[in-house]
Amino acid sequence: MDSFFTLSLDGLQRLLVGAGFEKFRAKQVFDAVYKNRVFDPQNIPTIPQKLKDWLGGNLEFAAAKLVGNRESEDETKKYLFALSDGYFVESVLLEAPSDDGRTRKTLCISTQVGCACGCKFCASAMHGFIRNLSAGEIVAQALPFVKEEAGNGKTERKFEFENIVVMGMGEPLINCDNLMKALEVFNAPDKFAFGARRITVSTCGIADKLSKLAEDKFPFRLAISLHGATDEVRGRIMPINKKFPLATLLDAAEKFAESNGRMITLEYILIKDVNDSFAQAHALAKIAKRLHAHVNLIPYNRVEALPWKRSDLGRRAAFAKVLKDAKVSYTLRREKGAEIDAACGQLALKKRESEK
Ligand code: SAH
Repeated sequence: MDSFFTLSLDGLQRLLVGAGFEKFRAKQVFDAVYKNRVFDPQNIPTIPQKLKDWLGGNLEFAAAKLVGNRESEDETKKYLFALSDGYFVESVLLEAPSDDGRTRKTLCISTQVGCACGCKFCASAMHGFIRNLSAGEIVAQALPFVKEEAGNGKTERKFEFENIVVMGMGEPLINCDNLMKALEVFNAPDKFAFGARRITVSTCGIADKLSKLAEDKFPFRLAISLHGATDEVRGRIMPINKKFPLATLLDAAEKFAESNGRMITLEYILIKDVNDSFAQAHALAKIAKRLHAHVNLIPYNRVEALPWKRSDLGRRAAFAKVLKDAKVSYTLRREKGAEIDAACGQLALKKRESEK
């Protein structure tokens, strides 16, 4: 079944007219879904029953169904979605205070079942690649997070989150066509109208795709999972570094930054005795300065069955100090959701193992 969400208003009009409905019904349905955030056609009050049934029978609204969630003490919530072929993906809702003292919610979504990139520290990589998610399945991970708000004498339905990060399971730039279709649904002014600067896509460094996105004027924010500041160290933990070594990746990133105009984020998980030396910190500072990038230092989340450990607190602080002294913009993140295995891939993995 085709996804409702990837249809334009024109496309929906044509479909409805072809099925014998009036043309103006398409705008009613569009408004109900994108303005009032009603995602079950049976609950759209303005349309006749016959159209509700036709929509439900001919277009897919919830391509992934929420089947479970877990919450950790730090307010990180993790959600498990079932796909129509029996696989699972997950999304995470993170809550964090921002600079202005307000609490902001960020939704983290997946783009693939499993992952082909094989980063040695990552849980998603352990079972290899299974398949790409469709655009509808990517969008569906956002749909349960709607809240009702009273205003101007009526109740409005809005998304609970203010930012979207594409940092769940999978490598988004390997599923680029479906990713772009899904981001269009979030971003288009006549769809969810979610600002491009509130959407961040994270990649392990698919350099040729980055160059292509630079040419296409990709409007969203970019994060690069660096995790090693020399080929020697990065190559040890990220096999993708063989195909796209740092020199190639950084050239592409530079080109991307120029075309995109927003500051790139370099993600760097600190893994004990692997990538947390002073030499790595200095090399990272140099890369960050070249790209005018912001560095996000993240403590490693332990993955059962993998040998890696998080760097000690003192080491993390010393590493950060090198960046500070080099006047690099950085944040030293406290871990989020460690106790509910918020590191990518772990929840879907456990579910599948317990079913065996
Ligand atoms: N494939 C994309 C997006 C998914 S991973 C990418 O590589 O960027 C999202 C982030 O989580 C990446 O920076 C990834 O390296 C990181 N990550 C993976 N396993 C982790 C773990 N166990 N602890 C902390 N971060 C982890």
